Amino acid sequence: MSTFSPLCDALVDFGLNKSNSRTEIVTKITIHHMAGVSSGEACARAHRSGSRDASANYYIGNSGDICGGVSEDRRAWTSSSAWNDQRAITIEVSNSKASAPWPVSDAAYQSLIRLCVDICRRYNITPHYSGSKDDSLTVHRMYAATACPGDTIMEWLKSGRIERDILAGLGMAAEPVIDKPTDPREAYIWRYLFDKIGNAYGVAGLMGNLYAESGLRPDNLQNSYEKRLGMTDQEYTAKVNSGEYSKKQFISDKAGYGLAQWTYWSRKEDLYNFRGERSIDCLEMQLDFLLEELNSAYTHVYRALKAAGSVYEASTAVLTQYERPADQSEHMRLKRAAYGQMYYDRYAGDAGSHKAGYLVRVTAGVLNVRKGPGTSFEVTTTVHKGEVYTIVQIVGEWGQLKSGAGWINLKYTEKV
Ligand SMILES: [Zn+2]
Repeated sequence: MSTFSPLCDALVDFGLNKSNSRTEIVTKITIHHMAGVSSGEACARAHRSGSRDASANYYIGNSGDICGGVSEDRRAWTSSSAWNDQRAITIEVSNSKASAPWPVSDAAYQSLIRLCVDICRRYNITPHYSGSKDDSLTVHRMYAATACPGDTIMEWLKSGRIERDILAGLGMAAEPVIDKPTDPREAYIWRYLFDKIGNAYGVAGLMGNLYAESGLRPDNLQNSYEKRLGMTDQEYTAKVNSGEYSKKQFISDKAGYGLAQWTYWSRKEDLYNFRGERSIDCLEMQLDFLLEELNSAYTHVYRALKAAGSVYEASTAVLTQYERPADQSEHMRLKRAAYGQMYYDRYAGDAGSHKAGYLVRVTAGVLNVRKGPGTSFEVTTTVHKGEVYTIVQIVGEWGQLKSGAGWINLKYTEKV
């Protein structure tokens, strides 16, 4: 059965023609230009019936029409590289003029972005272009002497426009927080949690979730309840602290509050009782309460944070077992892990370095080094029995070598 995006306006299904079965997981998108002006369907038909060994998964016409060609579960012949096309969904885009700088109409561009958003969503691809073959966005000229995808699309890739527009479509727009001056609470919270958890990945994964919940603000009242209760964060907090808003009201109002947006009545009751003489929005109190929860009702999450081998692993444990919002999709997991990664990059340097790297000795005779954490990734080189390496990141049973050579299965190693 063929697989095509639901966004297609037309299909010229290549069937088994000018393609091969796909042997790799889709991790890339390769954008090409037609070097001419055409509708998607006309270009697909020309490829299909022509004598050239050329095909693509999708064709986007000058008026923005999207035509499916080679089914996504098959490898198209587009980029002069079997290695690339086995991993990529390839897209031919019409130009609006058949000469340099190979411009592209706004309609074609908008359809291209919509199609890329759909592909990224379905294959969990984070769009990125830096000019490396390892990026998720690649181009034909990396593999052959060609002008493809033309100066205009190249400029949009290099300037980050395409990456930004796809991210925006995914709801993952580079959030302003990344550029905002650092909130002094951040460093404080990092140190506080690192003291207890002792694992930079765990702290980063937890903080990313807290950021998503409250913006790291202990006086944060769930936005929808600011309206419903007719109070701002500050008014609500002040009234709880003065007792004007009673303990009973606080517990039973179903409004998320604080760093972790505690919502359920028994958790809000515990928080209220835990504070003692301290104010309800006291940062240290809320951090202590958070650790208390992790230490009692959520020990499995606490253990996961201490043992996590990546920000993603820690963040996902918090999302699915501690915060448990309605949306726990892969998209949401990636988004929260991205927040966590931001804190990791900012703070793990000193505190996390001794945790992030450790030595292992190879116990297998010959052990494959792969491009990524899994046997589906290409073998880049091998290492040998008795050799000692530094591991800087762990995903599942795979460890990443500090040298950048790739990943090895830690089952065939012992800690030194
Ligand atoms: Zn091309």
